[in-house]
Amino acid sequence: MRLSKLFGKTLRQTPAEAENVSHQLLLKAGMIHQLAAGIYSYLPLGWRALRKIENIIREEMDAIGGQELMMPVLQPLEIWTATGRDLAFGKGLFTLSDRRDRKLVLAPTHEEVITQLVRRNVQSYRDLPLLLYQIQTKFRDEPRPRGGLLRVREFGMKDLYSFDTDEEALDVSYHKVIQAYQRIYERCGLPSMVVEADSGAIGGKDSHEFMVITESGEDQVIYCSKCNYSANVERAESVKLPGEKEELLPIEEVATPGMKTIEEVTGFLRIPKEKTIKAVFYVADGEMVFVAIRGDLEVNEVKLKNTLKCHELRLATDEEVAEAGLVAGSASLAGVTGVKSVADPSITLGTNLVAGANKPDTHLKNVNYPRDFEVDLMTDIAIARAGEGCPRCREKLLSTRGIEVGHVFKLGTLFSDRLGATYVDQSGVERPIYMGCYGIGIGRLLAAAIEQNHDEKGIIWPIPIAPYLVHLCPLSMDNEQVVSAGERLYLQLKDAGLEVLYDDRLESPGVKLNDADLLGMPLRLILSTRTVSSGSVEVKKRKDKETALVPWEEVEDRIKAILCL
Ligand SMILES: [Zn+2]
Repeated sequence: MRLSKLFGKTLRQTPAEAENVSHQLLLKAGMIHQLAAGIYSYLPLGWRALRKIENIIREEMDAIGGQELMMPVLQPLEIWTATGRDLAFGKGLFTLSDRRDRKLVLAPTHEEVITQLVRRNVQSYRDLPLLLYQIQTKFRDEPRPRGGLLRVREFGMKDLYSFDTDEEALDVSYHKVIQAYQRIYERCGLPSMVVEADSGAIGGKDSHEFMVITESGEDQVIYCSKCNYSANVERAESVKLPGEKEELLPIEEVATPGMKTIEEVTGFLRIPKEKTIKAVFYVADGEMVFVAIRGDLEVNEVKLKNTLKCHELRLATDEEVAEAGLVAGSASLAGVTGVKSVADPSITLGTNLVAGANKPDTHLKNVNYPRDFEVDLMTDIAIARAGEGCPRCREKLLSTRGIEVGHVFKLGTLFSDRLGATYVDQSGVERPIYMGCYGIGIGRLLAAAIEQNHDEKGIIWPIPIAPYLVHLCPLSMDNEQVVSAGERLYLQLKDAGLEVLYDDRLESPGVKLNDADLLGMPLRLILSTRTVSSGSVEVKKRKDKETALVPWEEVEDRIKAILCL
């Protein structure tokens, strides 16, 4: 490809709106263009990289027996109400009406459609197992699209669905896909980590995410330094240190004038936060919920939402708290009734804790569960933190950040029960089909690859997903010998089947070298007056500093050797 003809221009300045490195570099390199919040065009270079990722994914899905098909993006809303997932996705679901006022959905995922398809085509155990997938556009109305390609509203995704006769067979399929995913990330030049994850709106029991570990990642991963436990913080569990166990003392009121937050109360009473019970108020699908947790901990809203099995969860406003007759800043479950309550087991780890007295400027000392109050639900709703104990081996937990580049779910019979997808087993009995679903966001994978592979000058493409493999750069364009050598080498390498980006522009050497670094093809070839007169080409790997002068006649072989072609 001649750079002079390439659609898409590099920018000199880093676009101000870009928040993270992949976003900045993709915009600066002219590989993507933003149309609206979370909606992007891919320009030719970006699209080539994306298609290479797609092909790697396709090869690995086919290798485990996946069959590619294509399902519609535009779907009747009814199939979403049939499974209740219109509510589970809530405002994340793009809906529209046709000219006859029929409600439609722009699909965020395809479990409903594929389950219906399979229901019609699978009758017997002989038709199973099945692995079906597509590579297609999805739509999700993200509340905060950001980070360039990392969180968008329209995106390319590979979604695979497995269909099996029972749980054991599902386990086999699940494991097979996890291994295929690991090969995909490896081939894309991205070391990944498999972590336990929350199932969210997709539903189902077990779920794992694949994380590319990088400081710029928006997900926090909690993992054990000793065993192989690792989980997204949304899901992670931990063993908290128990507080001191003392003899239970009688409740005592204490004046805390103007002290409302845990910081204020503990500062005033000179006690550690672990000696307090914090009250947090939520509204779950319109209902007030009183949450109690040890004062040093924070509420994990994903766990709380799962516990309450609600569709929408948010913090209550001051007005709602007052309306419910609760005293913000001095509320506790000791003495409050008529409101739904959830407590984290951390409040049972210590004794004689401080909690609100349910009247202004007053707290209670020596509050103890269950002596002094009851709760509707007692379950883990705390955010796990580094330093706490591993839930498997009790060793210290560590924390890191990552970008989620894949998510797999064991759905079990969740969808087949709701949509009546069954098969007849060997003894003639009708049974539900066991399902799994497996997604990879393609643009997100591209962005993650850049987050992991770049320097201050630009992108450093991993070879398997680079838009072109070789960047050919004749520098002295006023020298006829250099120009004709450039043309000759370009045609020779192209004939040899190499993917070459040829900078035939009449730009200065500085501009050309900067663009070569920014665009980031794995191998750079320089032709200058000096190299041409010595019958050689300067070869440099994008990721290395060293250059080598290679005789003209050896260039082709040397390139192939470096690129392992
Ligand atoms: Zn462990």
